[in-house]
Amino acid sequence: KKERRKKPDWLRVKLPIGENYRKVRDLVDQYKLHTICQSGHCPNMGECWGEGTATFMILGNVCTRSCSFCAVATGRPPEYDEDEPQRVAEAVRLMQVKHAVLTSVNRDELKDRGAAIWHQTVRAIKEQSPQTTIETLIPDVRANWEALETMISAGQEVVSHNMETVESLYRKVRPQGKYKRSLEQIQRIKDYGKRTKTGIMVGLGESKEDVFKIMDDLLEHGCDVLTIGQYLQPTKMHIEVAEYIHPDLFAEYEQVGLEKGFDFVESGPLVRSSYHAERHVYPNQKK
Ligand code: SF4
Ligand code: SF4
Repeated sequence: KKERRKKPDWLRVKLPIGENYRKVRDLVDQYKLHTICQSGHCPNMGECWGEGTATFMILGNVCTRSCSFCAVATGRPPEYDEDEPQRVAEAVRLMQVKHAVLTSVNRDELKDRGAAIWHQTVRAIKEQSPQTTIETLIPDVRANWEALETMISAGQEVVSHNMETVESLYRKVRPQGKYKRSLEQIQRIKDYGKRTKTGIMVGLGESKEDVFKIMDDLLEHGCDVLTIGQYLQPTKMHIEVAEYIHPDLFAEYEQVGLEKGFDFVESGPLVRSSYHAERHVYPNQKK
C-alpha cells in the first residue's frame, strides 16, 4: 500500500476570519442557503469569503449522484424549495456581489432536472441586482436538452459545466456521468450563444497526455474557459489523491491551454471552478 504523503507547502492556506467573512457566513445562515464552499470543504473560503464572494448551491444539499471525489451528501433529496430563488437573490443583493456564481446538486429524479428553479434564481438575481454578472455552473442534464435551454436562457453571462476529470477516469471518479454527453452539453451551451467554461481536477492519476487530450476535446466542443486544480480528498471515504501536482506543471498546463486556443485558463493547485470567476466573464483582454 502506498504511503500516505504529506500535503506539500503550496497547498497551505491561511484562514483569515475577518469582518467580510463573518458577514457572508451570517447571511448564508440567516437565509438558510447552501454554499459549495462549505459543502465541498473548499480550501479557499478564507480568501473568497474574506472578499465577500461565495458560490451558492441551489436545489438543496442532497445529491442524487455519488461522485467519488465529492463531499456533498448523496440520497433522495427533499421537496423543491420554491422560495429559494428569492432568498438567494436577496443574499446576493445584501452582499453586493459584483459577480455571482451559482451551482446545484444533481436532481436526476426531477423531470426538469431542476431547470425551473435554476431559471427563477437567475431571473431573481438579475431583477434585484441588475449590475451583477452571473455564472451558472450547471449539472449534467442527462441529455434533457429542453431542461438545458430553460437553465441557460435566464440571462446569465457564463455557463459552466464541469468535466471534472479525463475520459479514462470517468468510471472511477464520476460513475453516473458520461464523458461524451458532457462534451455535447458544452457544445450545446456554446451553440446557444453563451460563454462556456469547464473545470477539471488533476492529481487523480491522469497523465499529461490525458490532460492535453481533454483540452483538444473541449476546444472541439466550443469551450472558452478552462480551470485546472488539485484534487484534495475531502474525507477518508473519498477517492485517494494519486499525486500532488507541482505548481510548475500547473503553469505548463496553463501555457499549453492558451496556445491550443482557450480564451482563458486558470490553473493552479488551489484553483476551483469558482475561484477568480469574475475574471472569466468577458473575453480575455490580455490575449
Ligand atoms: Fe467558494 Fe469557489 Fe471560493 Fe471555494 S473557490 S471558497 S467554492 S467561491
Ligand atoms: Fe457532488 Fe455534483 Fe457529483 Fe452531486 S453531481 S456528487 S454535487 S459532484
